[in-house]
Amino acid sequence: MRLVLLGAPGSGKGTQAALLAEELDIPAISTGEMLREAVAAATPLGEKIKQVMSSGDLVDDATMGEVVRDRLAKEDARGGFILDGYPRTLAQADQLAEILVGMEAELDGVLYLEVPEAVLMERILGRQRADDKEDVIRQRLLVYRRQTQPLVEYFEQRGQLLPIDGDRLIEQITVALLEALGRKVGE
Ligand code: AMP
Repeated sequence: MRLVLLGAPGSGKGTQAALLAEELDIPAISTGEMLREAVAAATPLGEKIKQVMSSGDLVDDATMGEVVRDRLAKEDARGGFILDGYPRTLAQADQLAEILVGMEAELDGVLYLEVPEAVLMERILGRQRADDKEDVIRQRLLVYRRQTQPLVEYFEQRGQLLPIDGDRLIEQITVALLEALGRKVGE
C-alpha cells in the first residue's frame, strides 16, 4: 500500500505511521525525522536546512522533492510506504504525483487525522524537543494552517481523502485507520 498520512503537528501522525507500518509491513517515511538526522549529522543538506527547521518554517519544495524522490527509490519502498509529513504544500502534492508517475505507482489513500487545535497545542507542549519551544510551535501551527491545510481539499477533490477522528485513544485511532483501508488489526 502507498499511503500519505496528513495532519497538523501534534495530530499523532508519527505515532500512527509507526503503528501502521508495523501492521502493514511497509516502511514509515518521516521527512521530519530524515531532516533532523541530516541536521544532527551536519551533512550538506543538514547545514542548508538547519536554520529553517529551527524556526518552524518549511524546507523549500525543491529540496523536499529531492529528499523524497531519493528515499522512494530505495528498495524497501518498492512494496509500499507510508509518508509521514510529506507532502506539506500544494507544490509538493503535485511533485509527489509526478514522482509516482515516474514509479508507475499510485496512492492508495490519504489518511487525514483530524484533531481540534486546542488539543494539538496541549499535546505538543507535552513533548520535549529542541524545535518545540512555544513560539516555534505557534509558527508550526500557523504554517500548517496556511500551507498544508489546503491539501485536505486537494486530496478530497481527487477522491483520495480518508478523514479519521484523531482525538481519541491511540489504539482506537489505529483501528479506525486500518478500517478506513479495509483492514483489521493483526490481519
Ligand atoms: P515534522 O517532524 O514532520 O513535524 O517536521 C519537522 C520539521 O521538518 C518541519 O517543521 C519542517 O521544518 C521540516 N519538514 C518536514 N517535512 C517537510 C516537508 N514535507 N516540507 C517542508 N519542510 C518539512
